Amino acid sequence: MLITHDTRCALDTVVDLVNTVPDDDTTTDGLVDVPALGDFVRRHEISDVGVLSDLDLAAVRKVRGRFAEVFAAPDARAAAGVINDLVAAAGTTPRLTDHDGYDWHVHYFAPGASVADHLAADCGMALAFFVVAGEQERLRRCEAPDCRRAFVDLSRNRSRRYCDSRTCGNRLHVAAYRARRKEATG
Ligand SMILES: [Zn+2]
Ligand SMILES: [Zn+2]
Repeated sequence: MLITHDTRCALDTVVDLVNTVPDDDTTTDGLVDVPALGDFVRRHEISDVGVLSDLDLAAVRKVRGRFAEVFAAPDARAAAGVINDLVAAAGTTPRLTDHDGYDWHVHYFAPGASVADHLAADCGMALAFFVVAGEQERLRRCEAPDCRRAFVDLSRNRSRRYCDSRTCGNRLHVAAYRARRKEATG
């Protein structure tokens, strides 16, 4: 499928957003306060968001929860239901743009949208096109036992099972290797 620069950015953003949720009680929320949200906004170059408040933080956390549901969705229909809700609640204004030297593409967030609505509209539409392209199953959760981080499998044969953020794949390879060796040596 064709993945434009904005789709790619939106996918990176939504994966990062979902993965700000703490894994367990010992890690802190990646969106713990308004400055943390500010860092997130700058890191992903989310434009036109204005001054951030506690209301923005609460709204973004809520949207984050819905996006987590998309990555946990068992099939396209379940994902579509969540995406439809998200995009409808955000309101969208499709607008052609060729900002910053990029080819023509469409932005979905409405002018003056809050950061939560901006994320819901643009990331929601990026995920919508994934479903349209029959690629919903690429939106995955890491299968390592103690991980479950979200990632997008962009491998050709859709074979990726682990995220790369904590080298889960390597960790499991090592575990499997040790198990085999233990068996071999009895
Ligand atoms: Zn753009
Ligand atoms: Zn993982």
